[in-house]
Order: sequence, then C-alpha cells, then structure tokens
Amino acid sequence: MPRYEDSQLYRIRHSAAHVMAQAVLEAFPTAQIAIGPPIEDGFYYDFDLPRPLEPEDLQAIEARMRAIIREGHPFNRKVVSAAEARQIFADQKYKIELIDGLEKGGRDEYGNPIDGPVTITTFQQDTFEDLCRGPHVANTREINPDAISITFREPAGAYWRGDENREMLTRIYGTAWETAEQLEEYLHLLEEAKRRDHRVLGQKLNLFVIDTLVGKGLPLWKPNGAILRETLTDFMREAQRNAGYLPVVTPHIGNLNLYRTSGHYPYYKDSQYNPIQVEDEEFLLKPMNCPHHCMIYKSEMRSYRDLPLRLAEFGTVYRYEKSGELSGLTRVRGFTQDDAHLYVTPEQLLSEFIGVADLIKYVFSTLGMSDFRARVGTRDPESDKYVGDPASWEKATAAIIEACEQMGLDYTVEAGEAAFYGPKLDFIVRDVLKREWQLGTVQVDYNLPERFELEYIGADGEAHRPIMIHRAPFGSLERFIGILIEHFAGAFPAWLSPVQVALIPIADRHLEYVRGIAARLKAKGFRVEVDDSNNRMGNKIRIAQEQKIPYMLIAGDRDIEAGQVSVRLRSGEDLGGIPVDEVIARLEQIVSSRSLELWSA
Ligand SMILES: [Zn+2]
Ligand SMILES: [Zn+2]
Repeated sequence: MPRYEDSQLYRIRHSAAHVMAQAVLEAFPTAQIAIGPPIEDGFYYDFDLPRPLEPEDLQAIEARMRAIIREGHPFNRKVVSAAEARQIFADQKYKIELIDGLEKGGRDEYGNPIDGPVTITTFQQDTFEDLCRGPHVANTREINPDAISITFREPAGAYWRGDENREMLTRIYGTAWETAEQLEEYLHLLEEAKRRDHRVLGQKLNLFVIDTLVGKGLPLWKPNGAILRETLTDFMREAQRNAGYLPVVTPHIGNLNLYRTSGHYPYYKDSQYNPIQVEDEEFLLKPMNCPHHCMIYKSEMRSYRDLPLRLAEFGTVYRYEKSGELSGLTRVRGFTQDDAHLYVTPEQLLSEFIGVADLIKYVFSTLGMSDFRARVGTRDPESDKYVGDPASWEKATAAIIEACEQMGLDYTVEAGEAAFYGPKLDFIVRDVLKREWQLGTVQVDYNLPERFELEYIGADGEAHRPIMIHRAPFGSLERFIGILIEHFAGAFPAWLSPVQVALIPIADRHLEYVRGIAARLKAKGFRVEVDDSNNRMGNKIRIAQEQKIPYMLIAGDRDIEAGQVSVRLRSGEDLGGIPVDEVIARLEQIVSSRSLELWSA
C-alpha cells in the first residue's frame, strides 16, 4: 500500500491548506499565519486573527477557496536563503520563528524535529507564498472545488507550537477529497460517528458512568452495562471451554519481585503506577496477567502430556495513562483483558496458533464484525534486539503464516513489527463506519518461559522449555465494548441486549396478562421489563425504542382473547398479533443461536 504521504490525496489536501490560507489572508489582511499541514482525513491551518470567526466568515472563505481553485493557479517552488525567506515573511512573526529553526537546522517548516540539513523552500500559488517543502499538486485545478469543506467542523483553539505559554491561535479545519461523492460519504460517516459516540450512548442507555470522585479513567458499570459485559464474557467463557482452555483467577496486585523476574519492572515503569509499600515488601498494581500465569504453570511438574496448557482469565490490569489522554471507554486506567496464555511444545505451535486464530475469527463473526484482516509482525533481520534463537523465530513465523493461509485470512506480513520477545499476529477489524480497530493480538513469547525458567519433561525424559502464546481477542473489555456500542449504535443483537423484551399492556386490565408472559420469558432466561407506568401506549413504545429494546410485546383485549401478543421490533416494524407460544419459541431460537437478525434466526 502506498504511503498516505506519497498519495495524490495528500498533495491535494496540502495544497487546499495553502489555498485556505490565501483566502483567510484576503479576508483578514492583518492575520498572522502559523502552520498548515495535511492530517489524517483533511488538513488544518493555524491563524492569529484580529477577531473571532463567525459562521459567515467560514462560508465566505470556503466560497473564495472554490474561486481560487477554479482560476487554475500553478504551485511554484522556490529555493531561498534564510535572509530571503526573512524578507518574504517580514510581517509574519510565526514564519520568522520557523525560519530561525530551519536556519539552525534540525527543524522542519512546521517546527518539528528532523534529521539532517534543511534547504529552505517556498511554494507560491497566485498571491500566496508559504514556507514549505511540499509536496503539492502542480496546479489548483487538480483540487476538486466540489470536494472541499472547511465548514464541516468548528474551528478550535490551538497553542502556537502546542505550548500553553504561547499565543492561542485559531485552527481552521478543512477536508478535501477527489470527488464530491467521497466528500459526501465522509461527511455522512462523521455524522454517524457523532450519533454513535459510545460516551453519549453509554449514558443514554445507562451502560456506564465515569465520575471524577471515583477517578478519571475508571468507569463504573451500571446494571445494563454489567449485563452486556457478563453476556460477552459468558460467551467467551463458553467458546474457550469448547476450545480446551482452563480458567484461573489471580489477584490485582503482585510482589514487585514478580515483575522484576518477568522484566515488566522496571522496563515498562512509565505505564505503571508506583509500587505500594506493605510492611517491608513492595507490590505493584497488576499491569499484566502473564507473570501470574507463569507462576501457575510453574507450581506443578509439567510433562509433555500436560501440554498444550491453556490458562484463561478475565484479568483486570492497571496502566498509567495521562489524564489528558483518557477518553470514555477507549482510554482508561483500569481495564479487564480477556486474557489467556498457552504453553506449548514447538511441535504444537502451528495447531495451537490455528486454534487461537479460529477462536478469534468465530468470536468476531458472531458479533457481526466479519470485516477483518490480519497482520503478521516479524523480526527485523537487521536488528539484534530479539531474544530466542533465529531458527525458532523462523519456525514460529512460518507457523503463523501457515495458520493464516490455512484459515484463508486476508493478511500482510510486516517486518520489524514483532516485539523483542516473539512474532505476533494482530487482527484489524473494520466497523460499520469502516474505521479500523486493532483487536485480537496473538503473541508468541520466548522470553517469559526463559525468565521464569519454565520447563516440561519431554518424551525423551529430558527437561525442555515450553513456548508461550499470549492472546486476547477483545483485548480490553472496556475498549471493546466501546467499539461494540458504536458498531451497533447501541442497538445490540437480541442475545446481547441488556433488556431483550419490553411488555406493554394497552390498559391496566391487561397488566396481569403481560405479567404472565413476562414470567414465562424470565423462566427461560430472558431479560424482560413490564411497562406498568401510566404512560400512553405510544409513549411506552417510544421509550422502549429509545432504549433500543429489540422486542415490544403489546397486549390489549383482542390479544388476550386470541392468546396472542402484538409484536413490534425496535426498528419500527409492526408484525401484528402472533400466538404467545410462537413468539416465545421464535425468541428462544434467535437468542440461543446468537442471531444478528431481529426476527429471522
Ligand atoms: Zn505547505
Ligand atoms: Zn500475556
């Protein structure tokens, strides 16, 4: 895949940033311009403006940008000396500061550190000249005037050079695409992402709450969220049981020496909390489950007949994250991993890897995330940072690739992406908004068995070292549920829904009838709610729909007479009266098969 930085889209966006700066300078001739790079899905430019921007300003600037683009101006590159650059940008104080950095070397035209000497260049289109090393399109005509927008997102404040002691600038965001359809699609996805924001839905659906009195980055799971979480972990437990995993449970803190042995301390010190002194020992809030599992392995004499040994735990770990980085469920300070460690002989590596990849594939497909690819991280042949002998690495890498092949996975191999302790396989899942999430990491490890001196007695009667595989399909349950909420926009498949059925009597006299149905459903393990409020029926339906409850079973006189209920789906579909037995049988089928469909199993 070509790098974004080398793509035409990148040049288009970078050029659009220059055009935007020209339009802003025309509108505000005294404005000071700072920097304007392309970013992931667009570009921005930072300005020091004489007054705050009104929406009309942005519209006018955008219109002017389209006009400039249509005029067809070439982008001209010029090499200049520092003195010439200072002359060109004499009245632009931020550029002067950047020129100083360029002249001294070690800084690019955005003020970012770079290696090597710098040639100072400018790019000019029409009346606008910028300190820039490109790349740009040859002519503004290469920018599609119908595929740009600077009004899609509010301008925001940004400190000059990210330094809170410096000037506060106005950052105007823009996006540019090759076609108007692409722009429209992007704007639609942005809208959808906003609508699906798990922080908003988490509150609306009563899933979780984050309260600073409890602590930043420490979500509290409310009953609805806890049910969702339990349903997910039950599902995983069942899948793991079927795949031969054994459960283990380990504590939330461990002696510092455990992590010294594993190497997690002090090497990962920056992502951990400070040790806790207890009597004359030091403990660490558990940053990883692996060391504990290694000690379980080590607690018994192991023979090759005991392997593979697959130890699984929903283990809660704590990692230090800066408070500024915390966000909803995606970046938290304490989270639970659906963790497992497999201890295998070298001969078992391939089949165990296939087993793990199979399990991950099954789990994601069941959850309706069938759009994924895999990435194999291998060692960098130039580097000597790796533990374990190269021959074992080669075998393990071959086993991972073979597993991908046998499973027909869409995979890429990326050299140098392995950890120092072994090659790995990452699953990258695309959600409905086509955003990619790295989930389901599987990691081969030669290091921990060595550090913990793990052994098994082979068929030859000799002691051998097992290979360890770390794997966590969801990774962090918190982050994964955040992704799931957005993927489903809170409308989970019936088997995952915190409340599966809302029973709605039309009048009070129908209450007893619906309670009878509720009792039958509960006895079969369904999660149901009877709406016995005084609300009108239409209101009750609306509330259930807003709570994304998959099924509404409504009963009035006619339903009772016929031994039926009127079935409505949260999608708004009205299925009419259906005999109660039939409804219950259908729901049982849908839930037990973990169907992604609401009515057809
Ligand atoms: Zn530029
Ligand atoms: Zn691990």
